[in-house]
Amino acid sequence: MITIDSLTHIYPATRKVAARTAISALTLAVKEGEFVILSGPNGSGKSTLFRILCGLALPSSGRVTVAGFDLFAQPAKVREVMGVVFQSPAVDKHLSVAENLAIHGDLYGLSGPEFRARRDEALSWTDLADRLDQQVATLSGGLARQVELAKVLMTNPKVLLLDEPTTGLDPVSRRNFLDALHRLQKARGMTVLMTSHVFAEADDVDRVAIMREGQLLAYDSPQALKALIGTEMVVIQAKDTEGLAARLRADMGLAVRCIGDEVRLEETENGDSLPLLEKILDRYRPDVLSISIKQPGLDDVFVHVTSRAVPDHALAIDLKRTGT
Ligand code: ADP
Ligand code: MG
Repeated sequence: MITIDSLTHIYPATRKVAARTAISALTLAVKEGEFVILSGPNGSGKSTLFRILCGLALPSSGRVTVAGFDLFAQPAKVREVMGVVFQSPAVDKHLSVAENLAIHGDLYGLSGPEFRARRDEALSWTDLADRLDQQVATLSGGLARQVELAKVLMTNPKVLLLDEPTTGLDPVSRRNFLDALHRLQKARGMTVLMTSHVFAEADDVDRVAIMREGQLLAYDSPQALKALIGTEMVVIQAKDTEGLAARLRADMGLAVRCIGDEVRLEETENGDSLPLLEKILDRYRPDVLSISIKQPGLDDVFVHVTSRAVPDHALAIDLKRTGT
């Protein structure tokens, strides 16, 4: 439904800053009806990609198709099938919910019974039914986000793009918003591509793409991604993280990694971890503040994938372009 083929985006050099490759030969496909989360540390190119996909920016090179239409040659066709929920609100806070929806309907040439039917159906996915006359500025953050969603749904998009839609929401509003999104996606067979850095949100999606420095590092189902780091891991907090890691490597031959203030041993299998934990405690008890066995979550996968070395062709492209 969405194909991204060899997409590269370079922000040109200015007098003050060098040229920067924000997206580097990115290839990725989202199938019809899939729910995909795009994640990656700050600066990995998510927003740049998002802006290109919703037609706000042209890439340096590469090809994108949405529902079979070429995004750059047939942008109007793409707009007909795509809905976008931006990170910063695109609703007018001084107007009521109903007024916002009416303006949006107008923009898309919806009126009369057709408008009302679409509006009411869109509202049925939200908790806004009894809030129509309320000014958006007086709604909670969660409900205000739902106005954005209702607006976009009125045009029946086949493909929905969302940029960090749950940022700033409390856990309950966040859950409500995502639940509605999942139900919608199933009921309408919609294709959803959403950027997020909250891994709890990615557990029940079809696939998760992890980007860093403009490149796609991993793209798979949450289950397959978790399998990358085995079924269990041992996590240690120590007085001297680097020191303990060095000794575990040297004395016990363990492939441990330091992540923040933790020493981690990934890729242990069910049953291996406990004897290992006991052995570590036996030898290093005075150095250990805490030690635990953990089942890897997507946040651990993210740490695992994004802390590996990046191939240098991203840099090569920069050099070629700037002629240095
Ligand atoms: P993310 O959304 O994943 O945080 P961005 O797409 O915003 O990443 O940024 C990717 C890279 O491109 C970063 O290194 C960022 O500094 C750079 N960048 C983003 N916008 C611009 C811009 N308008 N001009 C120059 N560089 C930019
Ligand atoms: Mg961003």
